[in-house]
Amino acid sequence: MTVSHGAIHFDNVRKEYGDHVAVDDLTLTIEPGEFFTVLGPSGSGKTTTLMMLAGFTDPTSGTISVDGTDISRVPSDKRNIGVVFQDYALFPHMSVRDNLAFPLEMRKEPRDVIAERVQRALELVDLAAAADRLPDQLSGGQKQRIAVARAVVFDPAFLLMDEPLGALDRKLRQRLQIELRQLQQELKVTMVYVTHDQEEAMSMSDRVALMNHGRIEQMGTPRELYEHPRSAFVADFLGTNNMLTVRPEAPGRLSVENGGLLSIDDGRDVPADASVVAVRPERIALTDIAATPPPGFSHCTGKVTHRLYLGSHTMYTVHSETLGPVRVQLQHDDGEHPYRTGETVGMIWRTRDVNLFGPTAER
Ligand code: ADP
Ligand code: MG
Repeated sequence: MTVSHGAIHFDNVRKEYGDHVAVDDLTLTIEPGEFFTVLGPSGSGKTTTLMMLAGFTDPTSGTISVDGTDISRVPSDKRNIGVVFQDYALFPHMSVRDNLAFPLEMRKEPRDVIAERVQRALELVDLAAAADRLPDQLSGGQKQRIAVARAVVFDPAFLLMDEPLGALDRKLRQRLQIELRQLQQELKVTMVYVTHDQEEAMSMSDRVALMNHGRIEQMGTPRELYEHPRSAFVADFLGTNNMLTVRPEAPGRLSVENGGLLSIDDGRDVPADASVVAVRPERIALTDIAATPPPGFSHCTGKVTHRLYLGSHTMYTVHSETLGPVRVQLQHDDGEHPYRTGETVGMIWRTRDVNLFGPTAER
């Protein structure tokens, strides 16, 4: 049997190594044609999840199905998936052309079909001119393009990639991110992509599952995860956040670790177990020391202790007596910002830009 295109469904999929739980009862659905990214820190279970979908590792329990059909017992080479790893895994003694022909020969395709498909795959990754070279005669980026071409040459229903750009430098990585996204859309193939790089996940994906300790912390569009993180872990993992430990003090008031008070006056209920707040640096503005905040805004003062020039923006660290160190990001839209190290400044933010979280569950 060959696995068809269709929704991929994980139902309570678990993987244990001895008494270590690598993947902890994972349930999720990946829609056909979706660019789905499994994101998470090292050791969170991303590769194990991908290997079970590829059929290289068996789940300890649970089922993986495609379009409602259980594929848990289908051998890897019958799952109709193309796989790309970080280290290319090209055959060093074979030309690029022969590397690409290999998966088709394994499938016993006729010679003329092989020649045509190899040519098409090479053109897809813009490397037709390199057909007769050996992998060692290619740059890192070219090798990874060939690995991608080899993964798509047999028209798989699914593409699985595990940190495919991890070995490349930043510029090349950014270019290949765009190319991979375009390729996935052109082929209308379902992509399951693994990375630990939150920027990469956000820029490429339709949806992201952020994993931690073998479980999904949150799953959704990049925007949902960035703007509405459901836990302190998510807020901290994606982008930059000012994280403060707090305790509810009075209705709409939180006391901060070192004695300051933070008000939440946007009509939200502050949960009794609120213990962490997060505010993004780009949501805070610098202003007059004595500014009176309008309703719905908070204001406090502090001293600029660091200034990091980053081209398109500057990241200030402002030390506030009530809140501690606060990072503030200012875009350079109309010239320079006049704030200097050592200067006392005001900070202002909308209280609804403050995200509240309960305590992190201990594992
Ligand atoms: P990630 O890809 O997110 O870095 P992995 O899926 O590789 O994480 O690993 C998840 C956890 O399972 C880690 O703690 C890792 O040490 C453990 N693990 C992975 N593969 C094996 C294995 N073959 N034997 C024992 N433990 C493993
Ligand atoms: Mg991994």
